[in-house]
Amino acid sequence: QVPLKPGRSLMDWIRLTKSGKDLTGLKGRLIEVTEDELAKHNKKEDCWICIRGFVYNVTPYMEYHPGGEDELMKAAGTDGTDLFDQVHRWVNYESMLKECLVGRMAVKPVAAPKEDHILLRLHLKIEEVNVHVFEYRIKYRGKMRITVLCFCGRRVSVCYDWFQTDSLITVVIYTKQKDMNAELVIVDCQDKRLRGEIIVDDYSYLIEVDLDHAVSEEVAVNIAEKIGKVEIILKKKDNIHWKTLGQPWRCHNTFIKRTDRELFYRKCKLVSKTEVTHDTKLFCLMLPKGTHLRVPTGQHVYLKQTITGTEAVKPYTPVLPFLPLDFQETSHHDGVHIYLMIKIYSCGLFTQALDHLQIGDYISVSNPEGNFKKSKVQGSEDLILLAGGTGFTPMVKLLNFALTEVSCLRTVKLIFFNKTENDILWRNQLEQLALKDERFEVQFILSQPTKDWVGKQGKISSSLLSEFVKRSRKDSKVLICICGPTPFTEQGVQYLKDLGYSQEEIHAFTA
Ligand code: FAD
Ligand code: NAP
Repeated sequence: QVPLKPGRSLMDWIRLTKSGKDLTGLKGRLIEVTEDELAKHNKKEDCWICIRGFVYNVTPYMEYHPGGEDELMKAAGTDGTDLFDQVHRWVNYESMLKECLVGRMAVKPVAAPKEDHILLRLHLKIEEVNVHVFEYRIKYRGKMRITVLCFCGRRVSVCYDWFQTDSLITVVIYTKQKDMNAELVIVDCQDKRLRGEIIVDDYSYLIEVDLDHAVSEEVAVNIAEKIGKVEIILKKKDNIHWKTLGQPWRCHNTFIKRTDRELFYRKCKLVSKTEVTHDTKLFCLMLPKGTHLRVPTGQHVYLKQTITGTEAVKPYTPVLPFLPLDFQETSHHDGVHIYLMIKIYSCGLFTQALDHLQIGDYISVSNPEGNFKKSKVQGSEDLILLAGGTGFTPMVKLLNFALTEVSCLRTVKLIFFNKTENDILWRNQLEQLALKDERFEVQFILSQPTKDWVGKQGKISSSLLSEFVKRSRKDSKVLICICGPTPFTEQGVQYLKDLGYSQEEIHAFTA
């Protein structure tokens, strides 16, 4: 993010789009844009960008782009889809830039086949191999010969089956994944539509059908962890025999990279909102009855709301309802509620709208995302957590997981940076945890303390880190996790590297 000029916030942008001003310069006309035409609009004062086949005149948006003008200019006059998806694939540009729409990209005429070659790109499924991009040439010389030029796929061993009794429908997914668990299975069954997503490493397997007949709201999920078998059990509303499971959706029975799978949202009910500090609240959301979703440690979800007609999406990291002191492996999540600790900014577009939600209102919550792997902690002897403000949120589940399930762990240290004493989240709970568990230590550091503060003060720096970040033994295995405002995280990572910690020993939480 770059600092934006005053009057250039997202809210200001929404206001401008609603003002009726002609933002495309085409007086509402939509045109077909050729590649040559698009390429001509590649300057700051005249900038068009193509995203998912639609061309936008982003010139008026330049000063409002949170990533800055230079980032936007990287896609000037070209197809920016990949660039936009790489940075924030969850942002709904179609909604945000709808008033800047110039038109569609003109379809390129297919080039005549060269000599005796025809080049094809297909999406095929051959036996057990799912091929995403498959490029080959067919040579035509009397008889047909096929030469495979490029192969990009992955062996799929995931498949599904279904069976029924008088009262139940059971969908069985065979993943053959040895360590399958509840966090890797996301099921949504609402209004006769069943969607089941299974995460297998960096891939996602999906079943998605409009069910043949109605089922009750409750859905049960059974997982045979060792053999990787997942059962989704649905209760028939009427005891009739089903001829088929239902009508498949477009992506039914596909196995693709997780990052290529469209984010799925379901509506969750706000059931409580409690104060944590003067500006931070704990929101408790309830998943719908037909949803099975567990957010893994270190991952976040996206919340989606429509704010004055524009769809806005922001990431948040679920926490636990409180910091458990008992270290029981029995989880503190009941599978029904998601807890989010959210700071409400007085000028924040999204958090102001969140704060105005009433108990009983609904908000869309996405599937989890994030690249943190619990296995990183599993072998660690020393775990060091550096948090700035709400950068504390991923540390909550991480702390609980480490103290509960990592047997070789010797020390856990949280170094928590805040502006003032009033900003410290869950201070009491953290201090109690430190008293209760001798492996755990917490250090609060304030950047803007009052004169009564007797603790440490300062900002993240090389000298502060060299004082607090230490291995418990000379060669102990350490993992350092860092999360907070982007510059805090970036500087912190650099200081840690300067202090001799390797890339593998550091995990930075980012979007
Ligand atoms: P914004 O409208 O974005 O503004 C926030 C504040 O920053 C305001 O004071 C605004 O004036 C200022 N500001 C914003 N952009 C600029 C700019 N370019 N230049 C100058 N000032 C600016 N937050 C939580 O509270 N809890 C979480 O658990 C959490 N998890 C997250 C997980 C991830 C992976 C990421 C990336 C972020 C997470 N966040 C979390 C932050 C969250 O996504 C939002 O960014 C935050 O809630 C602010 O949203 P907003 O729309 O209300 O504020
Ligand atoms: P904050 O209260 O503004 O700041 C917390 C601490 O960080 C303060 O001590 C502050 O000191 C310091 N800090 C702020 N900017 C700094 C900088 N540029 N360099 C060094 N230190 C800096 O923090 P917040 O409002 O709670 O914001 C938390 C941030 O964490 C948000 O940006 C949010 O997006 C991010 N977050 C990310 C994730 C994730 O990626 N997974 C999860 C949760 C939150 P000063 O006195 O200098 O301001």
